[in-house]
Amino acid sequence: MSALFQNYARRPVHIVKGQGTIVTDATGKDYLDFISGIAVVSLGHAHPAIVEAIQKQSEKLWHVSNLFESPEQEQLAATLVKDTPFAHAFFCNSGAEANEAAIKLARKHTQKNVIITFEQSFHGRTFGAMSATGQDKVKQGFGPLLETFRTIPYNDKKQLEAAIDDDVAAIMLEAIQGEGGVHQLDPDFAQAITDICQAKGILLIVDEVQTGIGRTGTRYAFEQANLTPDIMTLAKGLGGGFPIGAMLGSSELFTSFGPGTHGTTFGGNPLAVAVAKTVTDIVFQEAFLQEVKEKSDYLMQKLQVALPKEQFTIRGSGLLLGIECPGDVVPLIQQAEKAGLLLVQAGGNVIRLLPPLTVTYEEMDQAIDILSSVLLAEQPVNA
Ligand SMILES: *Cc1c(COP(=O)(O)O)cnc(C)c1O
Repeated sequence: MSALFQNYARRPVHIVKGQGTIVTDATGKDYLDFISGIAVVSLGHAHPAIVEAIQKQSEKLWHVSNLFESPEQEQLAATLVKDTPFAHAFFCNSGAEANEAAIKLARKHTQKNVIITFEQSFHGRTFGAMSATGQDKVKQGFGPLLETFRTIPYNDKKQLEAAIDDDVAAIMLEAIQGEGGVHQLDPDFAQAITDICQAKGILLIVDEVQTGIGRTGTRYAFEQANLTPDIMTLAKGLGGGFPIGAMLGSSELFTSFGPGTHGTTFGGNPLAVAVAKTVTDIVFQEAFLQEVKEKSDYLMQKLQVALPKEQFTIRGSGLLLGIECPGDVVPLIQQAEKAGLLLVQAGGNVIRLLPPLTVTYEEMDQAIDILSSVLLAEQPVNA
């Protein structure tokens, strides 16, 4: 009997070490890591700049609590909000926590309760974030949830218009639905959201926990959509593997999150902030982001050539790509793993590709070779 709760369906692979895109299991077998800890290890495993940041900061100071001022948090906040609609940041430890902060701030600021969210969305596992999530399998068995979320289909303008009334505080969405199956936001729908938010004074919350910090080839995915969010949440890639989350908000929201309104013990501790500073210093360079876009184009193009489009749909942005397959993807993911390529499923029959942003062209070639041999071998001839 395991000493662990069995709340994860764990794969029988014990990874003990990582370097760049490569991880090694306890038997010494190497894998190309095209999961990156689910879009977390954005600079690859054991990136020397992050190793150095942790070493240096760990010798100086790990934690003092938010009872004290923090020029380091100030500096990271300024970096994150630069040239965005946001003016302020709050630091926490995870994506769910960032979304809790966003939900609380939106309700407190507007003094309204309803938040519109979308089917297939994923916002986290805490009660508020779970209630916001548009997937029944995440919510089953936990009793009554927060009742004031209105969940409607993604990219459906009519249903959005129908869901708006005077009780709506905010619309909350992912710029690309990651867990839900790599679904992209229609430009038309983005425009409709922007118009409605403006006309009705409704806040827009963009959950960039998965898409943020360079993952889609820009600092944030909303920059590629016609969206002007009031609040944005970050986590996964922000710490490159070290836990840190953030909620950013516009200047109008400043007074609604005054002293005593919200907080966390660990959030924004010096170690996490030192790591996040290192990550953003690297990822936010224009040349780095440009390279992510070029790698994305390369990967997309190679996949489109390798996989017949009658059977496979490839979508996504940057290095958050999904391959929708005609059948169950679980056996395919298992076969890829045997062949040395780690992949993760997204909602439905979608294989998600989330390599480190530092992935090399050679590694992408190797991954495509494994992917095409596995995907093409598995497909029935006349599906
Ligand atoms: C992973 C994820 C979350 C939850 O983040 P945790 O750190 O696991 O709490 C929230 N929103 C999105 C879009 C995510 O991908």
